[in-house]
Amino acid sequence: MTKVIGPLDYAIPDNMDVQIGSIVEVPLGPRKLFGVVWDNDSPDENPIPDSKLRPIISVLDIEPLNKALRDLVDWTAHYYLCSRASVLRMVLPPSAAFNSAVSITEYRSTDIVPERMTPKRLQALDAIQGQQGLIRELALKADVSDAVIRGLVKTGALEPIEVSIDNSFDPPNPEHHKPQLSADQTKAAEQLITATKAQKFESIMLDGVTGSGKTETFFEAVATCIKMGKQCLVLLPEIALTQPFLKRFEERFGSTPASWHSGMKQSERRRTWRAVNNGDASILIGARSALYLPYKNLGLIIVDEAHEASFKQEEGVRYHARDVAVVRAMQEDIPVILSSATPALETRYMAEIGRYTAIEMASRYGGAHLPEIETIDLTQDVPERGQWIAPSLIKAIEDNIERGEQSLMFLNRRGYAPLTLCRTCGHRIQCPNCTSWMVEHRLVKRLACHHCGHVMPPPKACEECEEEDTLVACGPGVERINDEVKMLFPEARTFVATSDTLYSPAKAAEFVAKVENDEIDIIIGTQLVTKGYHFPNLTLVGIIDADLGLEGGDLRAAERTFQQISQASGRAGRAAKKGHVYIQTRAPSAPVLQALVNGDRDDFYAAETLSRKHASAPPFGRFAAIIISSEDEGEAASIARLIAQTAPNQEGMLVFGPAPAPLAMLRGRHRQRLLIQARRQVALQDIVRVWLESLEWPRSVRVAVDVDPYSFL
Ligand code: ADP
Ligand code: ZN
Repeated sequence: MTKVIGPLDYAIPDNMDVQIGSIVEVPLGPRKLFGVVWDNDSPDENPIPDSKLRPIISVLDIEPLNKALRDLVDWTAHYYLCSRASVLRMVLPPSAAFNSAVSITEYRSTDIVPERMTPKRLQALDAIQGQQGLIRELALKADVSDAVIRGLVKTGALEPIEVSIDNSFDPPNPEHHKPQLSADQTKAAEQLITATKAQKFESIMLDGVTGSGKTETFFEAVATCIKMGKQCLVLLPEIALTQPFLKRFEERFGSTPASWHSGMKQSERRRTWRAVNNGDASILIGARSALYLPYKNLGLIIVDEAHEASFKQEEGVRYHARDVAVVRAMQEDIPVILSSATPALETRYMAEIGRYTAIEMASRYGGAHLPEIETIDLTQDVPERGQWIAPSLIKAIEDNIERGEQSLMFLNRRGYAPLTLCRTCGHRIQCPNCTSWMVEHRLVKRLACHHCGHVMPPPKACEECEEEDTLVACGPGVERINDEVKMLFPEARTFVATSDTLYSPAKAAEFVAKVENDEIDIIIGTQLVTKGYHFPNLTLVGIIDADLGLEGGDLRAAERTFQQISQASGRAGRAAKKGHVYIQTRAPSAPVLQALVNGDRDDFYAAETLSRKHASAPPFGRFAAIIISSEDEGEAASIARLIAQTAPNQEGMLVFGPAPAPLAMLRGRHRQRLLIQARRQVALQDIVRVWLESLEWPRSVRVAVDVDPYSFL
């Protein structure tokens, strides 16, 4: 919690039309800032006399933020214990969007080669080839300073172009390409349409097995929403998913919808923000932050793959987009659909107690069957030394290649090897900024920290004993599995699918096309490939290490393992051909694996729910974490102790810690954690706010509160 200035008072000049929610430009000291006019919920006892107030400079020609959005900002600030200002930063676009220009200048490369070519210039030209953007955007992309880009403009190697930024979005056509729905789908779609027409708050859990056609089904609710002249928001968990989704969307509705994610250029942000605000964009497909856009008349929210943990933001305002989506729907008084083949336990529980409506789709579309799942006991069916694929799985891949069908090897670990150590002295290469091992990425010949992004070339000699050529890779990552697959099947065409290779929507689209055109035989991928893809010829899935997710053992480890393996398995046999899934494990009798093999999802969830109940864990009790960090280890520890010692004595609330966080150092900061466990009826936020506001700490210490934490690192 950082202490920030709260709302400020300003005078309204005569003849200025200011409403609550208006976006205004105001003076603050010598600066000019943008702000939002807020409801005065707690009038000052000694207000500053009007004559002493500085006047508002101007009101922007933009629809004022409506009450539902202002309420959402207040709710978020209160629930997640952050400042209104930090939430408003998500609501307001970059200031460029405010000025009334209708075109901006972007730059793109020409054929001219600069007379003086420096390494930086070369690096920049390489990186921005075929791209276009503002100077700052290009500099970021190429990882050079703005000056390098400006220099290139002077030499003519980059040329300016005027870009119009307020083109309108083509309206979607709800009748463009209506699919023939199956009986199951029709029934589910009718319920969704009725809820959409009612325009009343309702949380709906759309719970359909992988391949049941959830997307086609909720598209019918989208169509209804458009026909009613209302806006619809579809939230997706990963940017890589967006491209295939947009393609399906275009096929169904005949136009490209507006989208919103972190990879957008400023000009695109401005265009989309304004179109959402003035109602011109009727559909928005977006990442979690799209929840905070100023919709003119929102009529429906859909959260696709709603179980995804990536909906939880882990920095800044630590909100969970699935939960905020429900709150936003409540405040707008509209329906929200949470769609998933593996709903979060919390969501299922809400459906069980009747707070959410449950709609189930139990079978795959078009007569496709769910895949057959079996385990491979790695203690019996042992891979060759230095390899990770068991003989029986190798045989299955071989048969599958012979049939001309595609396979997926799933391992949720990027890079070549998770650990590099010295054969002579046992030294392990650690990130200089974090408590984590450097992960080898052999394709780019680098070691990388997956927590802070620090990269280094693999050292020739051990840092510790200084002996040369003694470093060895330990354990597998997807790149290493790829090497193994290529060694076993030299003819097979393989592809490593991770966030390192599918880093942009264009790359994801390329990958999809390759699989669809049968240019790939074996995909080796992380959780990224388990989402939303539909590859008819993919019939075999091998889970390389099912035990991985159960390590660490936090609250949701078993549930997450269940979801990940179900989703990975869900890629197999989605069309006419039957699918097979092999799960490699050292503990085949683990309940979560048994549940997967036997397909008894309900039993698994029932057991998990019961154990959560016994532990008073969510959804039965609530957690909040307090994370204290400083560059100085002693300082972090002493403030953590201070916070622990001043913990209020509150019935139904327990405070554990402080203890060094499992990730004891992150980006050069030492971290301590406290965990609060509370009964549902305890006013947790109010208590924590009063508690922390009564304390002081130096500016070098950061104290962050994570309400409903997902990460316990
Ligand atoms: P889910 O999201 O439930 O896993 P999808 O919506 O991706 O399933 O549907 C699986 C596949 O079946 C997709 O390729 C989809 O286009 C196709 N499909 C589903 N329902 C229909 C339908 N009614 N008509 C034609 N194709 C359909
Ligand atoms: Zn690091």
